[in-house]
Amino acid sequence: MRRFLFILVSLLWACNIAAAKKVVWVIDAGHGGHDVGCEFGTVYEKDITLAVAKELGAMVKKKINGVRVIYTREKNTTLSLQERCDIANRNGAGLFISIHVNSAPNLFARGTESFFATNVPLKGSQAGKSELLALLLQKHYLKNGREVSRGVKKRELYVCEHTNMPSVLTEVGFITNSVERNYISSKEGQAELAKAIFDALSEWHELTKNGAVPKQDLRNLRYTHYDPRTVPSTKPAPTAAANEKAKEADTRAKEAAEAKAIAEAQAELMPADDALAETTPETPKDTITTSETPTYFAIQLMNTSAPLKEGDYRLKGFQGVRFIPAGERFKGIYSRSDSYLDIKNELVQVRETFPEAFIVAFRGEQQITTAEALKQRVPKPMEH
Ligand SMILES: [Zn+2]
Repeated sequence: MRRFLFILVSLLWACNIAAAKKVVWVIDAGHGGHDVGCEFGTVYEKDITLAVAKELGAMVKKKINGVRVIYTREKNTTLSLQERCDIANRNGAGLFISIHVNSAPNLFARGTESFFATNVPLKGSQAGKSELLALLLQKHYLKNGREVSRGVKKRELYVCEHTNMPSVLTEVGFITNSVERNYISSKEGQAELAKAIFDALSEWHELTKNGAVPKQDLRNLRYTHYDPRTVPSTKPAPTAAANEKAKEADTRAKEAAEAKAIAEAQAELMPADDALAETTPETPKDTITTSETPTYFAIQLMNTSAPLKEGDYRLKGFQGVRFIPAGERFKGIYSRSDSYLDIKNELVQVRETFPEAFIVAFRGEQQITTAEALKQRVPKPMEH
């Protein structure tokens, strides 16, 4: 019995050493649960990121020895950005990769892009590892059938700044572009994207196996993949008539997606607004703004004691933030849109840097509730 115990303990010890030797890669499927990410109609970012993450993890487990995969989520669960970072930090991960989907008001915007943080550069042999991976991602997207690379960008992203290992955030395509939306929601598209990311990780693993980043490789990759790049399409160009038809379909799809987003927000916000209206006195009739003054949506980034100047480090690279007085303090307001869907999707991107940002609404210069601005946007009746 004692001998058996000794063998058992030795075995466990050996397994422990083997496990300890394995490097951990954390694969983070962006958003999840209540946080759907960006959306277009019934297509949600959270579902696409999860599918690609799981496909990628399965490939790594199968093909790369010495790497243990940890997912931040394997289901449709809600996780804060900090919880995602905690998983990576707690497990002493050697790599953190966050998978996301892009969106834009312009329905033609397309392509992949990868981000890494710079204001917390990793020291010594870790230096350049995040940038190297971001570059390799862009290289392998193009090698695996993607035509447009939007390049590599430095950005102060929460998940890159709160993890203490090489970390990147990659955007696999635009949910707002009909061609890319179809691709990233398809099984084939997701498998191809996972393969591209896998190829990038494999090459990164190979290039960094001796510890440091090979400087020449980094220079070469910067030269070819830092900036946006388009490879010629292998598909036949659509005819002008087909283009026109696609454009019309895109416009109708956008209208439907906008109507859905408004209807959902109205259902969510209106009861609270009605309750508020009962206790709020009528606005005097002779105020400068009238109900005809157009309303718009924007994003509140922060609340400060004084307006910040363009380029202030607290703006984390955001440009065109305007500060409006609010009592003793100032609200930092970013962007502006008539479209609720566009501002909602933009908020998703903004929150990767400012997790506490939220949507605000205005009538002219005057701030109003989001619910009030939504009232002016009666969803168009669906066409039959
Ligand atoms: Zn996202």
